[in-house]
Amino acid sequence: MAAGLFDLTGRRALVTGGGGGIGRGLARGLADAGATVAVLGRSERADEAAAELGGVAVRADLADRDDLPRGFDEAVERLSGIDILVTSHGIGRPAAAVDHELADWDEVVEVNLTATFQLCRLAGRLMLERGSGKIVNIASLLSFQGGLGVSSYAASKGAIATLTMALANEWAPHGVNVNAIAPGYVKTALNERIWRHDPERTAAITARIPAGRWGEPSDLAGAVVFLSSAASDYVHGAILAVDGGWLGR
Ligand code: NAP
Repeated sequence: MAAGLFDLTGRRALVTGGGGGIGRGLARGLADAGATVAVLGRSERADEAAAELGGVAVRADLADRDDLPRGFDEAVERLSGIDILVTSHGIGRPAAAVDHELADWDEVVEVNLTATFQLCRLAGRLMLERGSGKIVNIASLLSFQGGLGVSSYAASKGAIATLTMALANEWAPHGVNVNAIAPGYVKTALNERIWRHDPERTAAITARIPAGRWGEPSDLAGAVVFLSSAASDYVHGAILAVDGGWLGR
């Protein structure tokens, strides 16, 4: 019975950012649980990830308001529908707040927040029509904390948490689950400036993680399978931290 609760056989999943560090782990988790996965990204990383999974690659730029719906429609068409949306794309433009270019602010908010809202709505419309579906947004520790020198990123991720709850409030009565995962520190291209170039800060972060290590993309697979499967049918608007204990400290 327990295995059946987490079985995703026959489910069709779109993972944005599925070619990235975390997204690749999420896409792998869904594929291992039986889902057919479409990976959406801008670069060849999406193609590589899809090939690894035996899935479908879709190239689209989520910063472009015309390209986003085109990419979404292409993914849905190639999957012949959508049961699961995981929004694991994201960017950061670190800068001291006083020096932060507004163009960079706009880009971060557009990609991290507005594109997520638009993807949720596009998937949500199809799921509401059918009366079922699972949406998993990727939040952050910076949905709860301000971070250092990443004001636009923290603002966008704080909003992802409340957007997730707002959509859950509207869609839970109609059989659509909207939840989020808040990953802890995972070494990816997004935070390379820390783990590759700032050993002191890397060590300070590691020392503060109760689990004693940074996360791996594979550490997030269980959470995404849970939130994409029947096991979470009564879970709505949750922001599930998978952070080695960081937030509790
Ligand atoms: P990553 O390796 O840099 O991956 C980011 C992904 O986003 C890439 O696959 C990239 O695709 C995609 N992307 C960025 N801009 C895009 C655009 N305009 N259009 C389409 N795709 C775009 O970083 P990551 O760490 O895996 O980040 C994944 C998610 O986890 C993000 O939402 C991030 O905020 C969140 N997160 C990360 C951490 C961490 O410690 N790493 C912690 C908490 C939350 P292409 O390469 O194809 O452009």
